[in-house]
Amino acid sequence: MKNILSRAEFCYWLDNNFVWSPFFKITNLCNYCCAHCCERSGPNAEPTFIPIADVRAIAEDFRYTKNKMPIAVISGGEPMMAYKYAPYYIPNIMKTLTRAGFTIELKTNAGWTLTENASVIFNDLESYFYKNPNAYFSYHLSLDKFHPQSATTTIEFLKWFYNNDKLSRRANVHIFYDSPDFLTDTFVQLAEKHKIMLDLKNKPKNEFAKIDANLFCGKEKYIVIEPYHGIDNLGRAFDNKIATKQSSFIKSFSKPGDVHTITFDSNGDCYFDCASERVKTPYRNARGKIKPIEQLKKELFNLLYDRYLAEEMIK
Ligand code: SF4
Repeated sequence: MKNILSRAEFCYWLDNNFVWSPFFKITNLCNYCCAHCCERSGPNAEPTFIPIADVRAIAEDFRYTKNKMPIAVISGGEPMMAYKYAPYYIPNIMKTLTRAGFTIELKTNAGWTLTENASVIFNDLESYFYKNPNAYFSYHLSLDKFHPQSATTTIEFLKWFYNNDKLSRRANVHIFYDSPDFLTDTFVQLAEKHKIMLDLKNKPKNEFAKIDANLFCGKEKYIVIEPYHGIDNLGRAFDNKIATKQSSFIKSFSKPGDVHTITFDSNGDCYFDCASERVKTPYRNARGKIKPIEQLKKELFNLLYDRYLAEEMIK
């Protein structure tokens, strides 16, 4: 007979064997409408953003949660769409997360580097490092066939990063690519053209070795270039039937010690994702107050337990 965990055992196991970090999908609005989007983000989405006060309350509470990874992700949609409505929004979110003790991973499609907002945004990013000179900060960009002009926008971003000496030495750029040919034929050639000297052979010997980073030639700056992990079967990728990843919740929680994100979005939802499913609950209670993180975890663990039972029953 199978040894099926009770609800209490299952929730205890999740709570004590995994590491949690917050992930803010601050808006669904995006300048692009990619076919592989794991949301249904695009230019016609509602221009709503998670209120800064919500990010603050969630981050402040999250810092005391058990087994937390002190890295917060800012994602979307495209986070920089906020500049169209409230130019102070992104600098405030970054300040709020830093004050709550988190280092930041900022996911951006970098399309804004080709717009008139570019200098404002670059100035804000630079001024963040002026105020937080030792901040560890990671920019995540995509180099693929789905994001329009991704080689050009990534290079625009790298030109700024490579030539700017006022950034923290702990900042790095993380690039995910979908095709090795695209990487070598287009991206590396563009980098050479713009005199960005990638040094893809020499590895640093400091903390960046842990994330398999490379150095830029002659600069104390770091870049990680790694292949895509695949396309989740969610959102528009699901609609378009182009997902390359399928996984069950229980499989995605099969390695104790793994870091899992708890996502908060601009619809007021809080959720766990795996490659092809989502369990979610509102992050506010019926009276409009933000629920404590421990309560949200409990609600999500209970929803996961129902999936666990369903998966165990059909084995
Ligand atoms: S994949 Fe990213 S850039 Fe493309 S539509 Fe979705 S959020 Fe926007």
